[in-house]
Amino acid sequence: MFRTRFAPSPTGPLHLGHAYSAMLASDMARRAGGNFLLRIEDIDQGRARPEWEALICDDLHWLGLGWPEPVMRQSGRLGIYRAALEKLWARGLLYPCTCKRRDIAEAASAPQEGGAPVAGPDGIVYPGPCRDSARTGPLPGNAALRLDMARALAATGPPTFDETGSGPNGETGTIRPDPRAMLREIGDVVIARRDMGTSYHLSVVVDDAEQAITHVVRGQDLFAATAIHVVLQRLLGLPTPFYHHHRLIRDDTGRRLAKRDDARAIRTYRGEGLTPGGIRAMVGLAA
Ligand code: GLU
Repeated sequence: MFRTRFAPSPTGPLHLGHAYSAMLASDMARRAGGNFLLRIEDIDQGRARPEWEALICDDLHWLGLGWPEPVMRQSGRLGIYRAALEKLWARGLLYPCTCKRRDIAEAASAPQEGGAPVAGPDGIVYPGPCRDSARTGPLPGNAALRLDMARALAATGPPTFDETGSGPNGETGTIRPDPRAMLREIGDVVIARRDMGTSYHLSVVVDDAEQAITHVVRGQDLFAATAIHVVLQRLLGLPTPFYHHHRLIRDDTGRRLAKRDDARAIRTYRGEGLTPGGIRAMVGLAA
């Protein structure tokens, strides 16, 4: 059974790029005789707004999409993410990190680190000042928690996943991220932010498993993060779904669409009298 989902963060309007992702996922589910689910990724309570969520749902309905109710909302699942963190913590795979963004940038560009900081899918690769913090006692609640990627990879072995779409460089089929490159280019990512008690990476992995998602359909901008997701799935004993990364919808100058790009909001197009069929044509989807 094919099950996919669209997982918007309600921090802005639904724009053309999101609409493409949602319509593609829903089309794929329909063609496969499977299910399309909606999940609201609202762990960033500083930025998520119920008004955005309502507008996103309204735009998706207008585009002709439907999904089973009630939808999963991440803000109600913090206890479940915490239970997953407890498991990782108990295995010594996490450590608390109190570094500020500025400390990380400074440590990463220190001469002994070899010059320019490496930017991975989560920004600068963590240079490690807190890696020696104590990993015993109760799960720390007053610091960010990082995944010790070297230990995690030693426990899981090299991650692999099946890509039915393509990565930004045409990667497709069985993908085998190189663990050495992961240490160099991804490193010890934050798995729980201090202000959230979780992170995108942890929540997405836990929830895709909870919703029994068989195919994750999402933009190529998340291709590099998939290696992190597979490592977390293996550590938590969760299945790895198929991944289908799709091209990004760009503006006329070839830039990725940004959330603040209101000109590309579905709402704006609706106001200008475009039809759902017109939107499909704009992003190259068959009627
Ligand atoms: N909430 C994520 C976003 O809006 C989607 C993540 C995903 O599809 O895995 O970018």
